[in-house]
Amino acid sequence: MKAGMIGLGAMGAGMAGNLAKAGFLAAIYNRTMEKAETLAKELNVAVFDRIEALAAEVDVVLLCVSADGDVLAVVEAIAQTIKPGSIVVDMSTVSSDTARHAAAILAEKRVSFLDAPVSGGVEGAKNGTLAMMVGGDEDALEKVRPILQAMSARIIHMGITGSGQAAKAVNQVMCAGINQAVTEALAFAQAQQLPMEKLIDAVSGGAAGNWFLQHRGNTMTNNKFAPGFKLALHHKDLKICRAMAEKAQIPLPLTDMTIGDYERLITAGYGDEDISALYRLKKQLFDNS
Ligand code: NAP
Repeated sequence: MKAGMIGLGAMGAGMAGNLAKAGFLAAIYNRTMEKAETLAKELNVAVFDRIEALAAEVDVVLLCVSADGDVLAVVEAIAQTIKPGSIVVDMSTVSSDTARHAAAILAEKRVSFLDAPVSGGVEGAKNGTLAMMVGGDEDALEKVRPILQAMSARIIHMGITGSGQAAKAVNQVMCAGINQAVTEALAFAQAQQLPMEKLIDAVSGGAAGNWFLQHRGNTMTNNKFAPGFKLALHHKDLKICRAMAEKAQIPLPLTDMTIGDYERLITAGYGDEDISALYRLKKQLFDNS
C-alpha cells in the first residue's frame, strides 16, 4: 500500500518521518511548498504541488491540517482524483460533523474515510508514540492499521464515523483542566520561591504526575512557550467541545473558563505560543505575593 501525507506542520512532519521510516510513504504535499520540498529531500519521497496530483498516485491519503474548513477543502480536492477503493485518514482535530461531511463527500467516490485524531503532542508525532482514536468502518481501519502503527503506540476504534473526533473532544476538555491545574500550581510554587526543577521532579513521581507537567513544566517556568501545541489550535478545539455540549445541553465550566483565558492571550498576541502560555496569566495572580 502506497501512502501520501498532506499537511506537514508541527504534527504532520513527525508523522511523515515515521511513515517514511516504516517504508509506507510515497508522496507528500504541503500548502507552503518549501516545507514539503525540504522534507521530501530528507525522506527521499515524491513531492507534489497539488493535492489532486498526490491523491491520484496513492492508495491511502493521510492528512493533518488545522481546522474544519481546511479539512473539508482538502477532502474536496482529494475527491477530484482519488481512485475508488482507496482510504482517506484524517488525523486533524475537527468536529464530528466535519468528519461525517468528509465521509459523505468521499463515499460518493467509493472511498472510505476514517476520522483518526491523535493525542501525544509533537513529541508523540516525532517518536511514533501517538494515541489515536478512530471512527469509521472497522474493515477499512484493519487495512490501514499497519500504516497507522508506524505513527502510534495505541490505536482504538471508537465506533461509527465521527466517534473518533468525539473521543478527541473528551481528551481536549481534559487537557484544558490539566493546563489550568498545572499552570496555576506551578505559579503558586514559584510564588513560594521553591526550587522549580526539583519541585517538578518530585511532583511528577506522585499522584499529580502527568504528561503536561513532565513535558512543559520546566519550559513554562523558564518563560519558554515555543509550540508544542499552539494555543489558538486548542482554543479552536474547545469551541468545538462547547458547541457539542450546548447541543446536549450540558455545561462545561472548565472549558468555558479556558476559552476565556485563551481569548485574552490571543488578543495579547500569544496565539501561536504553546498552550502552556496560560502560565503567563497565572503568574499575574501571584504578582503581589
Ligand atoms: P500546524 O503546525 O499549524 O500545521 C498545520 C498544517 O496544516 C500546516 O502544514 C499547514 O500548511 C496545513 N494547512 C492548514 N490549512 C490548510 C489548508 N486549508 N489547506 C492545506 N493545508 C493546510 O498545526 P499542528 O500542530 O501540526 O496541528 C495540526 C492538527 O493536529 C490540528 O487540527 C491540531 O488541532 C491537531 N493536533 C495538534 C497537536 C499538537 O500538539 N500540535 C496534538 C494533537 C492534535 P502551511 O504549512 O502552509 O501553513
